[in-house]
Amino acid sequence: MECIVCGRKFYRGQGVRIEAAGIELVFHSKVCALRFVRSLLEHLEPDVLKKGVNETLTEFREARRKLEESRAKTI
Ligand SMILES: [Zn+2]
Repeated sequence: MECIVCGRKFYRGQGVRIEAAGIELVFHSKVCALRFVRSLLEHLEPDVLKKGVNETLTEFREARRKLEESRAKTI
């Protein structure tokens, strides 16, 4: 595998793999993945980005809320 950000070679199963819009994105490290994602966000249309950010925030908030609920039940 070859990191699409820095070109470093690595073995399958290592690094970070993300599939987006049917395209496989592979990075040798989290740092390279984050660099790509930051750049990707800058290339998105502001309206599309805003919608995506809000939906993602909702998703994580909901997941945290459920986690806190299940913790409260077990205590
Ligand atoms: Zn890299």
